[in-house]
Amino acid sequence: MWLRRYRSISVFISTIFLFLLTHGMVQAATVRFVDKEGNTLAEVEYTLYQQAIYIPVEELNDIFKSDVSPLYDRPRKQLTIKLKERELVLLMGRNTVKVPADNQTLTLSLPPRAIDGKPMLPIIFFTEILPSIDDVEVLYNPNLQRIRFMPKTAWIPDPDDETQEWTIVIDPGHGGQEDIGCKAQSGLLEKDVVLNVGREIQKLSKQYGYKIHLTRESDVEKTRIQRVQSSNRIRGNLFLSLHCNASFSKKRNGMHIFINNPNGMLRFRTLTMPSFGKNKLNLRTQSNFLTQSKEFGTILQKEMNFMTEKPIPISELPLIALDEIYMPAILLELGYLTNNNDASLLADHNHIKELATAITRALHTYTMKSSQSSDMTDANQQE
Ligand SMILES: [Zn+2]
Repeated sequence: MWLRRYRSISVFISTIFLFLLTHGMVQAATVRFVDKEGNTLAEVEYTLYQQAIYIPVEELNDIFKSDVSPLYDRPRKQLTIKLKERELVLLMGRNTVKVPADNQTLTLSLPPRAIDGKPMLPIIFFTEILPSIDDVEVLYNPNLQRIRFMPKTAWIPDPDDETQEWTIVIDPGHGGQEDIGCKAQSGLLEKDVVLNVGREIQKLSKQYGYKIHLTRESDVEKTRIQRVQSSNRIRGNLFLSLHCNASFSKKRNGMHIFINNPNGMLRFRTLTMPSFGKNKLNLRTQSNFLTQSKEFGTILQKEMNFMTEKPIPISELPLIALDEIYMPAILLELGYLTNNNDASLLADHNHIKELATAITRALHTYTMKSSQSSDMTDANQQE
């Protein structure tokens, strides 16, 4: 009786599910694989097994196109994948991955599984195994179920590389007891979020050649003029100001990139340029650096888009906060503290790390590009 009822209930539920699915009311859950530029390589339906995401092995062909040939030995539950000229041997339910050619054994934190008779790989296969057998970097965004493959960007010191001399200014907004910036319902403060991201960028940037200068390294008050002066004095090559947003509407959310364009939509009366001992500095304004600011803005946008559902907007405005800074300058709003979802993300250390990683990656791309077209930079830096 119980069994019968159970059976009829499950038939009933699956009928409803099938109806909803065929009528487009239930969206099958998928993982999207994207390339360096964010273009979709494949969209793969996944199976949830013990709270972990698994994808069918046969989808590898779709993800890597012709590079892969998975072979499944059903009786032995052994899976052989030929990937990038290397053979990987996996056993269902086992965490080890053998690479016979290299006499190497790699470890997966979750084993592959035969689910409904089909061999499946845990999603972490891509982040844990792939980078060690291929020249690829893999970024996984679990919030959006997105995986991005990128060529490895290992930085090899080159004595001729000018970016080794570069200093990038990261400006965590606000600070101190008086200027806390905006505040989330949870009590999270803008001044703390931006400092956390700034410090993380400083840590991550050590693997690259450039130096990071933070306009404040702790919870102290700094005036706009102090920030501007210290950045100009050290002759920074790029200025990135970090802030969080606030709105009366709790629904408003997401990141936003602002480029300082003195001729942008709004117009402020030109301020008297401060003198730093050299009168010639007075002739220079932010508009000298507009092209470079835009270039970095676009690179940053591409990196940050990986982290969000909707594309991040770029706006060009005359930004008083970035005026009088004699280098390309961008202001990045990391999210709305008045939006509960954004606020909880910004309170999460993993999210802060992801943000900083994406920003560092953008900085690296920008410095590499700029060192290739350094003529322009040189022209701008000459007195
Ligand atoms: Zn702010």
